Amino acid sequence: MENLLHSFSGVAAIFFPVGRIKKGGTCEFASQKCLYECAAFKNGNYDNSIPYETKRRIYTEILNEPINRLIPRIVKEMTKMDTKILYWFASGDCPRKLTLKLSELIIRLSEKYVMTQQGFTRNKKLWQLLNGRHHNIRFCLTIESEDKIAEKDKEGTLFAIPNYKTGNVKIIGYPWIISKPRFEYHCGGAAFIPSYKSKIHTYYSRKEFKVSQCHDCQICYYEKKGCHSEMEQTETNYTSHSNSRH
Ligand code: SF4
Repeated sequence: MENLLHSFSGVAAIFFPVGRIKKGGTCEFASQKCLYECAAFKNGNYDNSIPYETKRRIYTEILNEPINRLIPRIVKEMTKMDTKILYWFASGDCPRKLTLKLSELIIRLSEKYVMTQQGFTRNKKLWQLLNGRHHNIRFCLTIESEDKIAEKDKEGTLFAIPNYKTGNVKIIGYPWIISKPRFEYHCGGAAFIPSYKSKIHTYYSRKEFKVSQCHDCQICYYEKKGCHSEMEQTETNYTSHSNSRH
């Protein structure tokens, strides 16, 4: 059986086909601009060089296989890839018809296997279903501008705002404790925070570092930055329910 997961940004990732549904893609909620500028097309020579047929197969298998069969497959592949982080929609997105199934699959994976899951989606329903469901699930809702964030959506959530000129994405977070200020990070274009020196690594600016992709999600995970801000970490991998709040 062929893989569902491929490596991306230092972790395991799911790639779905890019583009409008009627053209064989999965980006049902994409804006015109986003379809035109999409990094999954533009940077096809890097991590994202998975052929369309492979992405289509992965999408079709996830669409058609029962959750009970998908879970052991994903767990097995992640163990083989030696990662505890699963990145959804390294390309493509969750179309409307997969929303309920994917939310259940993602929640069950995190609850049962203590798996950290992240992703960028324009599917607001999926983002709503996943928000606050488990401490190891953090999805960004991609929107075109910060003005579009409604007050009611601001608690314990993450938003991503693409910068089509630089290829970076601004990640805006609203903490769980409402009195805390919003926080901001930058990701993509290999620049998490330009030349920011972390304990583990130096992040390079886009100019210094030519590869136009996110640098390494594991660094964000261990430093609780970017998508993993405020996230609880666990060293337990695929074995226990004990760290789950549910
Ligand atoms: S902010 Fe960090 S965790 Fe999120 S996609 Fe970028 S590199 Fe990965």
